[in-house]
Amino acid sequence: MIAKNILNADLHCHSVVSDGTLTPETLAQRAKTNGVELWALTDHDEISGQQRAAAAAKAQGMPYLTGTEISVTFAGQTVHIVGLGFDPDNAALVQGLHDTRGGREQRAMEMASSLAKAGIHGAFEGALKFVGNPELISRTHFARFLVESGVCRETAEVFRKYLTEGKPGYVPHRWATLQDAVNWITQAHGIAVIAHPGRYNFSANEEYALFTEFKAHGGQGVEVVTGSHTRQEFVKYAETAKEFGLAASRGSDFHSPDESHTDLGTLPYLPGTLTPVWELLADRIQE
Ligand code: AMP
Ligand code: MN
Ligand code: MN
Ligand code: MN
Repeated sequence: MIAKNILNADLHCHSVVSDGTLTPETLAQRAKTNGVELWALTDHDEISGQQRAAAAAKAQGMPYLTGTEISVTFAGQTVHIVGLGFDPDNAALVQGLHDTRGGREQRAMEMASSLAKAGIHGAFEGALKFVGNPELISRTHFARFLVESGVCRETAEVFRKYLTEGKPGYVPHRWATLQDAVNWITQAHGIAVIAHPGRYNFSANEEYALFTEFKAHGGQGVEVVTGSHTRQEFVKYAETAKEFGLAASRGSDFHSPDESHTDLGTLPYLPGTLTPVWELLADRIQE
């Protein structure tokens, strides 16, 4: 028997509906070409691409799970919570995501003012040229504008020099609470997953609090194998998953062929000792 963990699942990526550069259809095609056997599109704070993604996956004969990635503020930092296998028509989830997107335009205008003070003008209009969904202006779109205008060579450099705490263009923002995000997902019959825990700058105590509170609210999964983790973090968060009794997820966090270093479907398999999230979601996979 083939172990259940030996599955090329890619349960984290972004389309033009948030801050990716490819359409849901092109992503589905790329996933299929790369051998993905179970796919989810997880746009930031947004599920309006779900029908297109599911239809495109079906056309490719590739099993699909609904997905999103919710922005949360926890202990003063932004944390991302991935939702998988939920009902996309659930009213509380739809409203919660709508509210979470709400402050993005105002924030973007403040980011542009902050950049203008640093001598970079026209950033709001510049970023908008890269936006596929007017409700979802993100730092990534500003990063693309700063690359296009020659201020930086690549988006990673933009985030190092701008748009992050203490740098020009950074505007603090209050996102959803951890409890609300987990509740929206679980009430819509989905599974909540802590995205890329290795990316946060938490102390050991804060990270422990994140996992403990996430569990207490009904969260069930954590990303272990993700494009945002190093090999050492695969091992570290496999241990954390076991310690907290969480199922494990796997996803590239692919955004763009030009920007992402991890392509769809190219990560190592999940360690065999973990329970994969897809085992808990078997009845929600769309074939
Ligand atoms: P926002 O939701 O507007 O705060 O934008 C967050 C997005 O910015 C993330 O989902 C990433 O796509 C991108 N991002 C954040 N930090 C970095 C970084 N250091 N390098 C490249 N992209 C980043
Ligand atoms: Mn992103
Ligand atoms: Mn993320
Ligand atoms: Mn992501």
